[in-house]
Amino acid sequence: MNYYGTPVTNLIEELRRLPGIGSKSAQRLAFHIINMPEEHVEHLAEVLVSARKNIRYCKKCCTLTDRDVCPICSSDKRDHSTIMVVEHTKDLAAYEKTGQYNGVYHVLQGTLVPSLGKGPEDIRFKELEARLDSSPVKELILATNSSLDGEATAMYITKKVKPRGIRITRIASGVPIGGELEYIDEVTLSRALDGRIEL
Ligand code: ZN
Repeated sequence: MNYYGTPVTNLIEELRRLPGIGSKSAQRLAFHIINMPEEHVEHLAEVLVSARKNIRYCKKCCTLTDRDVCPICSSDKRDHSTIMVVEHTKDLAAYEKTGQYNGVYHVLQGTLVPSLGKGPEDIRFKELEARLDSSPVKELILATNSSLDGEATAMYITKKVKPRGIRITRIASGVPIGGELEYIDEVTLSRALDGRIEL
């Protein structure tokens, strides 16, 4: 039943497609937006379109950025011989917040999901291999989540990269099993990094 009129119903439907937004949240957000001053709504719409249009993947580390090469990959203050492999840009952001990591990153933009047949070609693994081919790397820190898929991904990368003779480590204790990196506090993340184990 279309209680609210088509424009409002459409808005609720669109919001409901977003991750983590159920029917009630979608309604609440929709009515919040409708009650906002019109210029705020216009600004919100512009910001959404601009973010989508201007965002791209860094040519080196595959993180989301508005440049060809992201600020971290472009920085000469970072240690480019240490690469931390994370699942998503939000995980990179979580580690950056700790201020304790001075290497660079590689963002896989996902994990292997063996149960759904999602394989290496579905993540940014080829790009990682290309980086290892083109520049000397001393250490690869595997910081995928400790979920089944995150572990499967870490195992796969270890198997593929180990023959190159690069040191491979896995972030350690403190990150709860199944824990999502982005929700873990900075102290715990720093400890996980310090206590990383050799693979
Ligand atoms: Zn980058």
